[in-house]
Amino acid sequence: MLQLQRMRRLAGANCLLRRHSATWRSSTKNASFSEVLQLEDKKLTGVVFPLQGLEKYLASNVNTASFRTFNPGLDDIHRAEALFKPSGRHTIDYFSSAVRMDHAPQLSQPEVCFVGRSNVGKSSLIKALFSLAPDVEVRVSKTPGHTKKMNFFKVGKYFTLVDMPGYGYRAPQDFADMVEAYLQERQNLKRTFLLVDSLVGFQKADHIAIEMLEEFGIPYVFVLTKIDKAPKGLLIKNVLEIQDFAEKHTQGCFPQLFPVSSIEYSGIHLLRCFIAHVTGNLPMMNS
Ligand code: GDP
Repeated sequence: MLQLQRMRRLAGANCLLRRHSATWRSSTKNASFSEVLQLEDKKLTGVVFPLQGLEKYLASNVNTASFRTFNPGLDDIHRAEALFKPSGRHTIDYFSSAVRMDHAPQLSQPEVCFVGRSNVGKSSLIKALFSLAPDVEVRVSKTPGHTKKMNFFKVGKYFTLVDMPGYGYRAPQDFADMVEAYLQERQNLKRTFLLVDSLVGFQKADHIAIEMLEEFGIPYVFVLTKIDKAPKGLLIKNVLEIQDFAEKHTQGCFPQLFPVSSIEYSGIHLLRCFIAHVTGNLPMMNS
């Protein structure tokens, strides 16, 4: 019953969504952490810890304690990067796709999945995370009407990253057939990354996804995309709104938001480190 209601509400929400034509400006500047370490301090903070980089714009009474819930050292971030760099014995590659849960590969290693509205910047983010493994092909099916798939990427023997279909055209059906079933059944799922566009903030469809994650008791975290594109005032408004929502109105959400720019690589290194952490591949001292 709840599933049906959700499908109907998603159908209503999604008729408002329109695809923009996608042009990916590829750049590798700051893709590698050794490059970022060359930046002067202020710039480095902005690229590595974008949330902390925003603190100077906030009123002094804003509580920013949760901005540092996940607060790894630069060494940890550097170590985590090794997971995302292929080498002789460590391969990173697209593994398979599935349109239904019974077609999903049986993989026992820890898994993380990425969900969000169509056009939120999900494929760009996955490309940025895998930018040190340029042979990894992030497949996208953007044509309205084409069946969307769950795409599985194997990061050596360490973890699997799953790109879930965006909630866009055909979303209610995709959600019922794939996303809900996946979230409910996947035993090795360690964290769901729910992407929100910094230019538009939470949308109705995002709240439906949040409601579902809360109902299933699945640990998740918000990622705020395209932060290079949002005017500062709008960015801060959306950051504070989402942080506040996560703290006050959720059970399963990690209290710290991860803002990212897939073009400038801001927040990408911290996100790689967080993925390493939640998949048990980087024991942290201070989180
Ligand atoms: P998806 O539908 O969620 O996979 O979204 P895409 O990754 O295809 O991105 C949708 C549009 O947003 C494309 O035009 C991208 O170039 C653009 N985009 C994605 N991420 C960023 C970003 O970090 N900064 C900027 N400026 N544009 C982005």
